[in-house]
Amino acid sequence: MSLVSGRGSQIRFGGDVDLKTVFIRLKQNESVKVRVLSVNDYVEYLSHGSYAHKIYTQPCVAPNGVECPLCIAAKSGVEGFDALYVKKRYLFAFADLEMGSIRVWECSYNQAKDLLSQIKEYEDDINEVAFNFKRTGTGTETSYKLNPILKMKGDLKDKFDKFEGGEVELSFFDDVLVPRSENMMLDVLSEAGFPMSEFFPNYLSKEVREVNNAANDEEEPAF
Ligand SMILES: [Zn+2]
Repeated sequence: MSLVSGRGSQIRFGGDVDLKTVFIRLKQNESVKVRVLSVNDYVEYLSHGSYAHKIYTQPCVAPNGVECPLCIAAKSGVEGFDALYVKKRYLFAFADLEMGSIRVWECSYNQAKDLLSQIKEYEDDINEVAFNFKRTGTGTETSYKLNPILKMKGDLKDKFDKFEGGEVELSFFDDVLVPRSENMMLDVLSEAGFPMSEFFPNYLSKEVREVNNAANDEEEPAF
């Protein structure tokens, strides 16, 4: 099963994914030294998210052939929840030269378009040039730029060379896009004030599930 809906090319790079560190998240004026492995190390996926409802961007699970609670909420007609409509989001993979591992940057369509045009601009040089991937500004003024590092000092060149000929596997992106469990998605909807009993009559709140679990534990035979 794959939640990825499109990609630049078929590329390969192995390794286990540590979800705690795999995402490149930059604050204003922070940067990370990266090697751009190719012009195709990105994928498109479908997501839901609504800042106003405190529902953070997460993959739509409909491509896995299961009913997606967030799609149901988006199409429910309940006022405000149309904000959860399916959006295309993008993951770009870079070699992080400080951590020495492949990491991803998650972004919107417009950010992806901008970054891709930067990568294409440097296409002929990506095998010789490392970049500072830097965030400037906040809110709608936020921008992410690849700034070429003119001279690789110290062991940066060695770290850069380590990724020579590297490719990122499609499965890497799938490992990053871990779908939330049905209960997790329903819980965020419930917390956002969605009329659960109307649309998800079988939903049990977190509190009820915890009580049920405790009751089940008590029924287990003692050894
Ligand atoms: Zn969905």
